[in-house]
Amino acid sequence: MTDGRALAREFLEQQRLLGGDSVILPELPGAPQPPAATHPASRIPSPDSPPPGISYDPPGGDLFSNDPIPQLVASCTKCRLCEGRRHTVPGEGAGDARLVVVGEGPGRVEDETGRPFVGPAGELLTKILGAIELPRERVFICNVVKCRPPENRLPQFDEIAACVPYLFRQIDIVKPKVILAMGGTAAQTLLNTKQSLGALRNLMHRFRGIPLIVTYHPAALLRNPNWKKPTWDDVRIARRLID
Ligand code: SF4
Repeated sequence: MTDGRALAREFLEQQRLLGGDSVILPELPGAPQPPAATHPASRIPSPDSPPPGISYDPPGGDLFSNDPIPQLVASCTKCRLCEGRRHTVPGEGAGDARLVVVGEGPGRVEDETGRPFVGPAGELLTKILGAIELPRERVFICNVVKCRPPENRLPQFDEIAACVPYLFRQIDIVKPKVILAMGGTAAQTLLNTKQSLGALRNLMHRFRGIPLIVTYHPAALLRNPNWKKPTWDDVRIARRLID
C-alpha cells in the first residue's frame, strides 16, 4: 500500500516544480530530493535539431529559466509508459509561439529521436503549417503524453492523468493565441469531454480562455485522404484566429 502522505508530497512537489503556487512542505526522513529546476543543456540549441523544450529566438529571456519540463519529463516514472520508452518527447518550439499544436503521443520515430511530430505524419504537419504561412519553428508542438505507448496504442486514462500537468504547464508558459488539438485524444483531454472528434469539430472551443480548434491528426490524414479538405478548413480557421 502506498503511503498517502508520500503521494501527496510528491504531487505538491511536482506542482511546485511546474511553476504552481509555492507549497511549504515539512521534510520527511529519506524523502527524495527534487531535481534541479533548470539544466544548462536545455539552453544550448543544437545546430542540427532543436533541443526538446521551449526555444526562443533571439536566444535569451526568462522562458528558458522557467522551463523545467524537459528535465522533469526526462526522469519521469509516473506511469507505465516510462518502461518501454527510448526517449521522452516533451515537445519543442518557440517560447513566444502564437500557435500550440497538441497531438496524442510519440510514435516510433518520435521515440527514437526525442522530437515530436517527425516521420511521415510530422512531415505532413510541417506542410500544413507551411500552407498557412506558419513555419514549424514558430509553432510550439507537443503531445498529451510524453512517452510512446507500446505498439502505438491509445494512451490510457491513468497515463493521461499522470502526464497532463506537463502539457497544461507548457500552455501556461507559451500563452499562445490559439491551440490546435489534433486528434480525439488531444481534443478530449484539453476539453475534458468524451465527445467524438466529429462532434467537436466546426466549433470554436476555449482552453483556459485560449481559443481552441479541433481537427484530425496528421496520421489519420495519411490513412484517410478524404479528411484532408476538412483539416485544411479547420487549420484556416485557426490561422484567422491568430491574425
Ligand atoms: S508518459 Fe508522462 S507521466 Fe508517463 S512516464 Fe512519460 S512523462 Fe511521465
